[in-house]
Amino acid sequence: MSANPLHPNLNAEDLALALSGHNFIDGELAPTRSGRTFAVINPATGRKIADAPFSVADDVDLAVHAAQRAQREWADTPARRRGALVIECARLLASHVEELARLVTLETGKAIRTESRPEAEGIADMLQYYGGLAPELKGETVPHRPDVLTLTVREPLGVVGAILPWNAPMYILAMKIGPSLVAGNTVVVKSAEEAPLAVLRVCQILSQVLPKGVLNVVAGYGPECGAPLVAHPGVHKVTFTGSVETGKIIYKTAADKLIPVTLELGGKSPMIVMPDADLDQAAAGAVAGMRFTRQGQSCSASSRMIVHESVHDAFVGKVKALVDAMKIGDPMDEATDIGTIISPAQYDKVCGYIEAGRSLPGTTAVECSTLPADLALGAGLFIRPVMFTGLTNDSKLAREEIFGPVVCVMKFSSYRDALAMANDTDYGLTASVWTRDLKTAMDASLRLQAGFVQVNQNLVAQPGLSYGGYKNSGLGKEASLEAMLDHFTQMKTILVNLA
Ligand code: ADP
Repeated sequence: MSANPLHPNLNAEDLALALSGHNFIDGELAPTRSGRTFAVINPATGRKIADAPFSVADDVDLAVHAAQRAQREWADTPARRRGALVIECARLLASHVEELARLVTLETGKAIRTESRPEAEGIADMLQYYGGLAPELKGETVPHRPDVLTLTVREPLGVVGAILPWNAPMYILAMKIGPSLVAGNTVVVKSAEEAPLAVLRVCQILSQVLPKGVLNVVAGYGPECGAPLVAHPGVHKVTFTGSVETGKIIYKTAADKLIPVTLELGGKSPMIVMPDADLDQAAAGAVAGMRFTRQGQSCSASSRMIVHESVHDAFVGKVKALVDAMKIGDPMDEATDIGTIISPAQYDKVCGYIEAGRSLPGTTAVECSTLPADLALGAGLFIRPVMFTGLTNDSKLAREEIFGPVVCVMKFSSYRDALAMANDTDYGLTASVWTRDLKTAMDASLRLQAGFVQVNQNLVAQPGLSYGGYKNSGLGKEASLEAMLDHFTQMKTILVNLA
């Protein structure tokens, strides 16, 4: 068993066992103080692959103290030097893409070719981007008075608590540690209970470059490990990606401490398909936007497809044909397009929505692709993607975030109705409009109530583009220069009396 960070270990089972039972605190792998652990399960087989530490407040305390000890020196490291170290982190990760892709596939059931490998490549890209932003941590001079030199400087906040979900654990880790570290903060990461291993491995790999204590990770459950991290007096900022309910709990605790938060929460993103849209392009965009390759387990999934009545049936047919051609199967198999659902609880939840959809009068369930015939995968949490047609926007399926491969397709006859339907939601993360008409494209872009709007495409979040939600989809932005400056620094005004 080898968890030597210098050597990529392509045997994911072996690496999972080598990392088993550990947090990463103050530059080294560390077991939890309580000695308690919980099982990490491969959702494609139902088999245990490792234990994760059931970290509690004591472990969080150790990690926060390590981060506090490291913070002064890290903040005093010249910004460009910090940036160079983060770019060095990106370079290191680029040589670990394959092992990270396999490890995250093992613990999440995401297909290696379509999901896990691109994610592993993406984290290096995100850190590379942030490392290059270090010189932008500059302040301004203010034309206040001729006898007073007045300037602003940007300073780090201190220790950042970063709470992660399981759906893209490494990429979301990179979105959070990139701006934190470059801005001079140190970090305590709390990984998601379903996917602690790849995140732990990334932090261990980065410890070859980062001073000890600068980046720490604890695994555990929300109430026992996440909550004490948010409440810890040594944590000065929380960045969270997860559910609306948990986001609200975190926001309340942060309010008591008067610390800033960034919250990236759920979504129920609309995709408006106008009658003049290029339907092939729109269907391909629907497949990409719905993240079928990740079983729809994405907060930005285009799960409400609002389609003009004149092209509705043709559009549904084209999307179905594309998803039918996708292979559901063993996530480690290069031929597989779609892997599994993350956990039995999530599986039951998604199946519950599908059952509810089937029993709605006037609704048709358009099921796509086929389940794997391989008996060895019998315990795997596979689900056939399904599109429900004939729904109304006030149905439970159209209002609640399902986080699975379940699409609501709704018809419209007028552009005004389409916009109203698109905006009639508690969420506002992403949206898209599909049309050849420039005026409609621009009008919809301005009127759609979402933080990330696209025309005739459905790309995922990219370094350099501010990403974050309106309404219940969250607070603050990620993945950009503005995100780093606004959310990971504080500004000081300095006045120097020259009289
Ligand atoms: P999901 O239902 O998708 O797992 P959650 O919002 O419950 O979404 O979880 C996202 C992350 O938030 C996980 O790392 C989880 O452990 C953590 N978490 C859950 N509850 C809390 C809490 N009360 N305080 C802090 N973190 C929490």
